[in-house]
Amino acid sequence: MMKLLDAKSIIERNIPNLQDRAQQLTSQGLVPSLSVVLVGNNQASRRYVNNKAKFCKRIGVVFNLIELPQDISKETFLDTVDKINNDPSVTGCFVQLPVPKHLSNINITQLINPAKDVDGFHLNTINKLYLNELDGIIPCTPKGIITLLNENNIKIEGMNVTIIGRSHIVGKPLSLLFQALNATVTLCHSRTKDLKKHTINADIIVAASGVPHIITADHVNSNQSQVVIDVGMNQLDGKLVGDVYFAEVVEKVRAITPVPGGVGPMTVYSLMENLLLTTENIINKGI
Ligand code: NAP
Repeated sequence: MMKLLDAKSIIERNIPNLQDRAQQLTSQGLVPSLSVVLVGNNQASRRYVNNKAKFCKRIGVVFNLIELPQDISKETFLDTVDKINNDPSVTGCFVQLPVPKHLSNINITQLINPAKDVDGFHLNTINKLYLNELDGIIPCTPKGIITLLNENNIKIEGMNVTIIGRSHIVGKPLSLLFQALNATVTLCHSRTKDLKKHTINADIIVAASGVPHIITADHVNSNQSQVVIDVGMNQLDGKLVGDVYFAEVVEKVRAITPVPGGVGPMTVYSLMENLLLTTENIINKGI
């Protein structure tokens, strides 16, 4: 029988553990505290930030939103990030992307203090993943996908995994993570010839291209054995849809994530895990 890989049950089951860890850190004298810089008034970004704020409240950690106007000067922006990086009461931080055009030539992910890098995009952070060291911070969406598979007892070792999309925030770090977990990875992108050839026999398919419904019934086989993870969050005719044509693919696979309610919430969950980890590291190792 097909299994729906929804995030809600996993999150509800694990929230008490996150609350305990937050409580423990607070009683050790360092309250986990997330600071987010939001520039301008992008509605989607604001929605993401609100979700993160709500989750922080649920697990009992501090959330600070630093809102900057759309036309903020480069100097003031850099100064703001610098202050957060050096504020000892802040244990995790990031700049919500995208930023306005006049700031987009700054390598923002490299500005963040690596000790507070809860998004996991700083090169120092990625370097650990590159070296197959999995005890550090792992970028949130890839980490959330692995948690989703683990919590559903879906085997990774030895599996053939096809990922569609090679972005710095999803596809590429996810390919490193799957490799480190002993899967065999095929990484597809916009120049891949014959996508179907790479998906049809995969044990696990991860769609992260940003192309609505790129994965259809034709891309999966009829063995009811494949697991499909849909990372996509796309607007189509005013509706949020994934990269997978759910209605037709669901009939043919062993397990599949819904959109919304799958990878999205797991990403926020992973951000909370990363915040607790950076805070624990600051207590144990100092910055
Ligand atoms: P991105 O930076 O635009 O990267 C898209 C990747 O897909 C690129 O590597 C691109 O190839 C590849 N691609 C584009 N068209 C393709 C095609 N026709 N066939 C095969 N590959 C194709 O996107 P992203 O930031 O990784 O995001 C991808 C999707 O995931 C979006 O819908 C985004 O909203 C969603 N997302 C969701 C979450 C979540 O928490 N659920 C988090 C992050 C992103 P090239 O490299 O050749 O250009």
